[in-house]
Amino acid sequence: MEFCSKCGGLMIPKKSGSHVLLICRKCGKKRTSKEKKFKISVHTGGEKGKIIVIDKRSKVDVLPKTTMQCPKCENEEAYWWMQQMRAADEAPTRFFKCTKCGHIWREYE
Ligand SMILES: [Zn+2]
Ligand SMILES: [Zn+2]
Repeated sequence: MEFCSKCGGLMIPKKSGSHVLLICRKCGKKRTSKEKKFKISVHTGGEKGKIIVIDKRSKVDVLPKTTMQCPKCENEEAYWWMQQMRAADEAPTRFFKCTKCGHIWREYE
């Protein structure tokens, strides 16, 4: 919950285009919510180990790259990110996405 910096009133979130505006219920002061600009959501779905949909809004080109051979097209470069699977006590899994063909795979498969 967010409060107004001016009068301490409750800020009500209101969607405005692509971002969220917070508007004070008391004095009407507005400010933009500090939402992250993008995020990657990985849906693990029902079937175990079944991957992956990257959010359409995510900018894949901001992900770090590494030298990793794509199992599909043998390209030598891939983007990577960590993703926590089901249980919080499990180590996060590393995912790769081929910079050339877009193939996505997991480490240790
Ligand atoms: Zn206010
Ligand atoms: Zn590839």
